[in-house]
Amino acid sequence: MFQLLDGKALSLQIKDELANEVRQLTGEGRRAPHLAAVIVGEDGASMTYVANKEKSSHEVGFTSSVYRFAERTTEEELLKSIDFLNNDPEIDGFIVQLPLPKHINEQNVINAISPDKDVDGFTSVNVGRMVLSEEAYLPATPMGICTLLKRYGVETVGKHCVVVGRSNIVGTPVANLLSRKGFDCTVTLCHSKTQNLAELTRQADILIVAIGKPEFVTADMVKEGATVIDVGIHRIPDDTKKSGYRLIGDVKHSEVDKHCAWVTPVPGGVGPLTIVSLLQNTMKAYKRHEGIK
Ligand code: NDP
Repeated sequence: MFQLLDGKALSLQIKDELANEVRQLTGEGRRAPHLAAVIVGEDGASMTYVANKEKSSHEVGFTSSVYRFAERTTEEELLKSIDFLNNDPEIDGFIVQLPLPKHINEQNVINAISPDKDVDGFTSVNVGRMVLSEEAYLPATPMGICTLLKRYGVETVGKHCVVVGRSNIVGTPVANLLSRKGFDCTVTLCHSKTQNLAELTRQADILIVAIGKPEFVTADMVKEGATVIDVGIHRIPDDTKKSGYRLIGDVKHSEVDKHCAWVTPVPGGVGPLTIVSLLQNTMKAYKRHEGIK
């Protein structure tokens, strides 16, 4: 019988912990932590993500602000605004919602964020610090996966972790974090050119799937008793739902779950922990700015 790595429940618990901390800090007469978001254009998924981040910020008592820019905004204009946010002492951390319109160079914009306020952990400086195991803001989704494994007490030391997908925001950093001292996994990182993928995934004690292909991982690709982390999120049209769609992952849960020891559901697995990690990074930035240990 599998056990759920319930990201929704854990996120509520961590949000409660953060809200208590904020209450205590503001009770002492301090300002609340402040998370800002920059969004360019009107992409539906991006607007939903930013709205969720804003809602979560308010739930824990953070100040939150959103800077909205038209699709036609130039890179230069955007860089000026980033400079403004970097220098605003009232803002502890901010994120630039990706993707950006095609005429803007994403890496230029990300690297313009002060590493000190880069609570998404996407700047080259923070990525470098992470790889060297220095103090860094860790990217939110990999950090959320680590929190799930840690808080649910999933054994990682000496385990074989297979990560499928090598993106800069999920696969590559999570592979790095889990191979570090503390987690001590032996990590295999797979991608679209990997040969005999199923042979590798079947060896995984911990299988992390972040490829962006609906229900790609089937039961024959998973070892009995494995821990499976499904990062994928896809909207599938569904007339039986009020919203008109349902969410599914990169793993075919209807057949995989019964073979697992631990598994993340979709929705309610990795997603809620991603937002919580952003809040935790903002709290960390706030404490640094306020000189609080
Ligand atoms: P990307 O599209 O950036 O990367 C996908 C990766 O999967 C690439 O490395 C690609 O390989 C690899 N890949 C694609 N097809 C295969 C295949 N057939 N076999 C093996 N590897 C393959 O995706 P992201 O990492 O940004 O996102 C992955 C999924 O996670 C998406 O569904 C996304 O929506 C979701 N997501 C969820 C988050 C959450 O909070 N829950 C946060 C971020 C993402 P190659 O490099 O060779 O092209």
